[in-house]
Amino acid sequence: MVEARHADGIRPGRLDPAEYRANFTDLHPPLDRHEAFVEADRCYFCYDAPCMNACPTSIDIPLFIREISTGNPEGAAQTIFSQNILGGMCARVCPTEQLCEEACVREEAEGKPVKIGLLQRYATDVAMEKNLQFFERARATGKRIAVVGAGPAGLACAHRLAMHGHEVTIYDARPKPGGLNEYGIASYKTVDGFAQAEVDYVTAIGGISIENGKALGRDLSLDDLATAFDAVFLGIGLGGVNALRAENEDVEGVVDAVDFIADLRQSTDLSSLPVGRRVVVIGGGMTAVDAAVQSKLLGAEQVTMVYRRGKEHMNASTFEQDLAAAKGVTIRHWLAPKRVLAEGGRVTGIELAYTALVDGRLVETGETATIACDQVFKAIGQTLASDGGGVELAGGKIAVNHEGRTSNPKIWAGGDCATGGDDLTVTAVAEGRDAAESINRILSGP
Ligand SMILES: Cc1cc2nc3c(=O)[nH]c(=O)nc-3n(C[C@H](O)[C@H](O)[C@H](O)COP(=O)(O)OP(=O)(O)OC[C@H]3O[C@@H](n4cnc5c(N)ncnc54)[C@H](O)[C@@H]3O)c2cc1C
Ligand code: SF4
Repeated sequence: MVEARHADGIRPGRLDPAEYRANFTDLHPPLDRHEAFVEADRCYFCYDAPCMNACPTSIDIPLFIREISTGNPEGAAQTIFSQNILGGMCARVCPTEQLCEEACVREEAEGKPVKIGLLQRYATDVAMEKNLQFFERARATGKRIAVVGAGPAGLACAHRLAMHGHEVTIYDARPKPGGLNEYGIASYKTVDGFAQAEVDYVTAIGGISIENGKALGRDLSLDDLATAFDAVFLGIGLGGVNALRAENEDVEGVVDAVDFIADLRQSTDLSSLPVGRRVVVIGGGMTAVDAAVQSKLLGAEQVTMVYRRGKEHMNASTFEQDLAAAKGVTIRHWLAPKRVLAEGGRVTGIELAYTALVDGRLVETGETATIACDQVFKAIGQTLASDGGGVELAGGKIAVNHEGRTSNPKIWAGGDCATGGDDLTVTAVAEGRDAAESINRILSGP
């Protein structure tokens, strides 16, 4: 164990079992009943509440906080779920510091917002632990809808369609449903198999069947689905990964950050997961932070995140950047990958070019830096891994209007794969839900 901890290369077992356990516990431990009361009491129950306007799913935040403060967490959960059936996951993963909590008047006044995310988690946990189901299916309509993708967008869409009495079949390429909730979100944000528990909770409404291991483009065609079903919703996310466009990037040890995180999320024994002693992560978003932090938590000694622009341009929130720094990750700015250095086909370092903004354009300054490392994670954005199967694309995503309708009148799309979103779980949920309302309106039409 001691040898593995300090050895170069990509190796498993860098930590003791107790260290793995401690490193991967809940990032934000839940509030207990008393703490929830105290926190709920801090809310001013604002009229035209700015927190609510900042929530992509428009949850009535002052109402659910009031319900908690009056000892009715179940009612609070119903308020949350009526807008966002994945309110439990969103309570864990939403960058609240950029959404509701940033807008909270107590943030403005004292720099200390009401802890809306933790209160939402408290209420939804109470309801889910009791398996309280708040929604019933309307009378069966006889309409059948295919949902492709069992991520947040697909699940939210399916639940709302089931509520309206439609029959839904979800197809997903992966062995388990949940999308990035199951395969992508950092493990310390969603512990104890919560993603699967939430899928069970959402589908308990009835009228939803899930077929895993069925991929659009491989096992299913969009034309066939559009013919066999009354409507189709595409929530296939972004399965492709951008290339570094650096020389030599195909050598052993250069890995897609999303694949690394998926392996980590599916691992039942973290000590079996190999990680480099010195790791470099290329990128400035949430995925880059998650890969960097989790490699540090797996025992990497030195983890450096490298971003080609400045701190202020990073997609990762200040909270995420601070989290990375607190876990011992070094973040370096104004550096772009140029060449992966290797010996015997394995990574030994990365050469980077210094960059600067000149007349609004990012250019290399001509200077370079080298960081020695055994592993490089690519986290420079995901791409649509589909040609759209016949629906129009725009800017590399499926083109949709404000209701999620594509160029084909029988096909809707939402979440990361569709134009207009911001690649957050909560936005995917909002888009899936709203597309379901649009589908229902069209199918119930005259
Ligand atoms: C590493 C990482 C960490 C993140 N962390 C956060 C976070 O902390 N907070 C946050 O708000 N957001 C986070 N995000 C973003 C968030 O996870 C996504 O915005 C959200 O999951 C999008 O939901 P979706 O349903 O559109 O797509 P996905 O969650 O990607 O789900 C798409 C589903 O479609 C399936 N699929 C794909 N192609 C096919 C096909 N051809 N046929 C059938 N099925 C297919 C996939 O298997 C998958 O189940 C993170 C993203 C990543 C990559
Ligand atoms: S803005 Fe803050 S104080 Fe006002 S209702 Fe929302 S959570 Fe409560």
